[in-house]
Amino acid sequence: MKAGNDYILPIAGLSIGYHDFEYEIDEKFFENFEFSEVQKGCVKVNLNVEKHERESILTFNFAGNVFIACDRCNDEYEQPIENEVVIYLKYGHEYEEESDDVIVIPSEEGEFDISSLIYEYIILSLPIHRVHQDINDCNQEVIEYLESAANQVVEESDEIDPRWKCLEELKEKDIN
Ligand SMILES: [Zn+2]
Repeated sequence: MKAGNDYILPIAGLSIGYHDFEYEIDEKFFENFEFSEVQKGCVKVNLNVEKHERESILTFNFAGNVFIACDRCNDEYEQPIENEVVIYLKYGHEYEEESDDVIVIPSEEGEFDISSLIYEYIILSLPIHRVHQDINDCNQEVIEYLESAANQVVEESDEIDPRWKCLEELKEKDIN
């Protein structure tokens, strides 16, 4: 897929009024974002454009699932996402993201590429805690390993790590 073709909004060619667009985001889309934490998923994007003389109001609706790594066990899991984002597209001298919801595009620009906006909003739709909903779905081997490693740290914490012995000695010298 060439992001440049499928996700270009022919903004100048639209008549004053409402216009609806539909996009289906899949792994081909995410391939355009090499270092993306999301590489797989299926997200339906409905875009409503309310075009006025000097500005347009873009309402994006996102619904679908993406696959991301679980913060607890690092296995991939399916995360549902749902979000609505409204942005104001205004005409000006040069491209500028005036604020979170106001974007200025040059007035001679007839098209507007929305692929990076769609990507950005999908990432923003992800929850802060990205974990398997049910801990039982987590990779139990990893969970057990992490638990045993955590217990070991507790057990060992009383002993002084030989690497820090010199630090301890220094501290003692300071006190004396
Ligand atoms: Zn997990």
